[in-house]
Amino acid sequence: MQTRLLINGQLVDGQGDPYAVYNPSEGAVLANIPEASSAQVDAAVQAADQAFDGWAQTPPKDRAHLLLKLADLIEANAEHLARLESLNCGKPYQAALNDEIPAIADVFRYFAGASRCLSGSAGGEYLPGHTSMIRRDPLGVIASIAPWNYPLMMVAWKLAPALAAGNTVVLKPSEQTPLTALALTELIAGLFPAGVVNILFGRGPSVGEPLVNHSKVRMVSLTGSVATGARIIASTAGSVKRTHMELGGKAPVLIFDDADIDAAVEGIRAFAFYNAGQDCTAACRLYVQRGVYERFVNQLGEAVASLRMGLQDDLETELGPLITRDHLQRVEGFVTRAKAQPHIRVITGGNRVDGPGFFFEPTVLADARQDDEIVQREVFGPVVSITPFDDEAQALAWANDSDYGLASSVWTRDIGRATRLSARLQYGCTWVNTHFMLVSEMPHGGMKQSGYGKDMSMYGLEDYTCVRHVMFKH
Ligand code: NAD
Repeated sequence: MQTRLLINGQLVDGQGDPYAVYNPSEGAVLANIPEASSAQVDAAVQAADQAFDGWAQTPPKDRAHLLLKLADLIEANAEHLARLESLNCGKPYQAALNDEIPAIADVFRYFAGASRCLSGSAGGEYLPGHTSMIRRDPLGVIASIAPWNYPLMMVAWKLAPALAAGNTVVLKPSEQTPLTALALTELIAGLFPAGVVNILFGRGPSVGEPLVNHSKVRMVSLTGSVATGARIIASTAGSVKRTHMELGGKAPVLIFDDADIDAAVEGIRAFAFYNAGQDCTAACRLYVQRGVYERFVNQLGEAVASLRMGLQDDLETELGPLITRDHLQRVEGFVTRAKAQPHIRVITGGNRVDGPGFFFEPTVLADARQDDEIVQREVFGPVVSITPFDDEAQALAWANDSDYGLASSVWTRDIGRATRLSARLQYGCTWVNTHFMLVSEMPHGGMKQSGYGKDMSMYGLEDYTCVRHVMFKH
């Protein structure tokens, strides 16, 4: 297995300490990856800084050409990459191959096109004898830090807009799930000019921290937890770095009496438990109106109990394990504390699965109250809470009563209600009668402690640029 870093166009062995990477389905070590040393972090940033001017001056159509080639390379290696992703994350191979790989290639293709459409607004004469124009220019070296839940997808979300806008990148994938990025590193080593893309492997404190604090890094883009985001914001404040933060979520799902309940049940079965619920937009915090409450709880319980949990290569598997033993313990802790509340009913699941893998049963907890921990905190596992509500005002107030602000959904047949609520939900995204759907053309990003900045869309591209004014005296 390839275990090297990509620095200045070369594959090099990490000179730091090795760390173990696991197969979460079996709890077994898959590889030991030597992480980058601090000298290698510095070398990667210096290489990116050296490469910046040339890449920024490369015409957008030529940058686009390389991003399109990268998309082709991903498709050409789809089965290999999906196999590695499913092995390292425990997620079903079919889902990695059929859902994730096409979406990943599409992100590179979208930003290839978008790079050619980026422009400043039209110029004009705002002072007699002078003409002004607005430019959108790249920023320099971007430090990109990625999480473990969709490893290669997050590589795409980080690399594509930054490169399309003319920046150079030093990327650090999650130490827990480096396998697809390691494979990609080998695939793209000769693709971009040396230094334009650098990929470092290693842990947060030993590699991420020196990377984001390097004086030549101009912007830090993180997808990760709120705690890591807050830490990076604090540590980069002294050097006034730009930051782009895609953090946690706890998506409220408002299901009204007039909703299509069968469709809502089917939707939550899919959108709360995809990737074993390890998704920042997972439909995990359900509010259901009293008129349909018991019916919904019973139907969802049956539907979730029918989810097939298993090994990644089994065609029947819908749900894999959690990512690590620590994370399994964390999820179990949330559920154990919720079960200890006398008012909470366990409708299905609620326990870890005995065995070497990190499996937790898909779980539905009913009758949760607004101030319960299970309603307020991000669990990031296959667990949903259900809370009954009386009317629209109560549902809206509870939905917005959260430190998170990433995603939300409203399930109703009343278009007026859907429109009214969509306008007032304090979330970066609101879906109506669906949840979870993302497209490259539309922005993804949060409010409140879910962060700021957008991934995907033209807004995502603009986030990796600076607005500049140039004035000509006639
Ligand atoms: P995490 O914050 O533990 O780690 C994310 C990355 O940050 C890893 O690469 C890690 O090595 C690195 N890191 C940790 N400490 C660092 C430091 N001090 N300096 C620099 N880098 C550091 O998050 P995770 O457990 O990998 O991912 C799960 C979290 O990510 C969840 O909270 C989830 O909601 C969030 N997430 C958000 C989105 C989104 O789009 N908003 C998408 C996916 C995941």
